[in-house]
Amino acid sequence: MTRSTTARPFAELLALTRTIAREVAAKHADSVDRDARFPSETLAALKDAKLLSTLVPSALGGDGASLSELAQLCSVLAEGCSSSAMILAMHQIQVACLVRHGQDTPFFQNYLRLMVSSQPLIGSVTSEVGTFGDTRSSICGVEVAGDRFTLMKKATTVSYGAYCDALLLTCRRNPETSASDQVLVLATKDDYQLKQTTAWDTLGMRGTNSPGFEVHCQGSAEQILPGAYADSSAMSMVPYSHVLWSALWQGIAADAVGRAATMVRAEARKTPGTTPTSAIRLAQVHSDLQAMKHHWQATANEFDQLEATDAGRTELLSLGWALKFNNLKTSCSDMAPRIVHQALQITGIMGYKNDSPYSVGRHYRDVLSASLMVSNDRIAAKSASMLLVFKDT
Ligand SMILES: Cc1cc2nc3c(=O)[nH]c(=O)nc-3n(C[C@H](O)[C@H](O)[C@H](O)COP(=O)(O)OP(=O)(O)OC[C@H]3O[C@@H](n4cnc5c(N)ncnc54)[C@H](O)[C@@H]3O)c2cc1C
Repeated sequence: MTRSTTARPFAELLALTRTIAREVAAKHADSVDRDARFPSETLAALKDAKLLSTLVPSALGGDGASLSELAQLCSVLAEGCSSSAMILAMHQIQVACLVRHGQDTPFFQNYLRLMVSSQPLIGSVTSEVGTFGDTRSSICGVEVAGDRFTLMKKATTVSYGAYCDALLLTCRRNPETSASDQVLVLATKDDYQLKQTTAWDTLGMRGTNSPGFEVHCQGSAEQILPGAYADSSAMSMVPYSHVLWSALWQGIAADAVGRAATMVRAEARKTPGTTPTSAIRLAQVHSDLQAMKHHWQATANEFDQLEATDAGRTELLSLGWALKFNNLKTSCSDMAPRIVHQALQITGIMGYKNDSPYSVGRHYRDVLSASLMVSNDRIAAKSASMLLVFKDT
């Protein structure tokens, strides 16, 4: 992909992310996990390096990064800290919706410019009490009176909700319309009040800090993203979510395999000339890790190529693309825990212990969230009904 001359080269973005992953995120990952605390050091470093606006088009001052580039950044950061990478991914998914569906309006154009100078962190509010994980239906509706809106949403899970500078919320277009007639609303910190309703003491992804909140917002009607959420979900939210999540789950798995590989090499050095039996397991898990990486890379590259064509965006509304993204999510979320499990079989008790350099406990617990974060059963049910009518030509 050709990049604008004002945007930073991708190699620079990658080098910055790699340094933050190693020198900041990895250093604090254990305390972030143990104390279930927001990874403030990593997010501060990402903001300092202006890595929260990499997706903003270069015409508005950003780096105009492609989906495959963003996915690489999330994967690299996940090798240092899963929660930090999930926060970066969730933020970029919200930015993708604003860039791809809002940048033609003066309000969103200004907001995207401000993103470059101020690096606001944007959270996602798709979950809602009573919709049971179905992101394509809402109970709450935005009420517009003149040029102002008001909205109240009871969300079950809002990652880094207390640390956000803005929230992107799904809701009904108005309170009277049907549950699936949804829009996205951007509320900036001054526009909302949060009331925490539940705690976040979980098995993994503890640093994402994702309790439930009652969100009360009010603001200018311009903050309602143009178009239907049905379209922004299929064209942007689902593609970016499933690719960025898959990439970061692969990054977590890669770090677990890396720990196993370090242990196997140390073992090999003890008996020069003989290959330890654990090296066979390493070869097997390495192949699975490569397959997982190739899956998200291929989908991201295909998406980026499609973007460069005229038919681009509307193609994304097809069943073929919906199935492709669903398959990527379910496959990678199944594969990540299996890979970490294989890494644990190599490291044995040293991987099982929390105080060992070969520990993969945190990785294991973190990747278990993958199949729940939009339930794989729900996705499989949607794919099953599409496959009844889809013909792969
Ligand atoms: C780490 C993490 C961070 C998150 N961050 C956010 C966030 O920032 N913002 C946000 O809005 N949400 C967030 N979520 C919530 C997430 O987006 C989903 O809303 C949530 O995971 C769905 O939970 P659920 O178990 O109620 O899902 P459901 O989809 O309701 O699943 C509940 C159960 O029903 C089964 N089931 C569901 N549908 C079907 C079906 N069609 N056929 C058969 N069985 C089915 C499932 O297998 C499951 O056992 C986060 C979740 C996690 C794990």
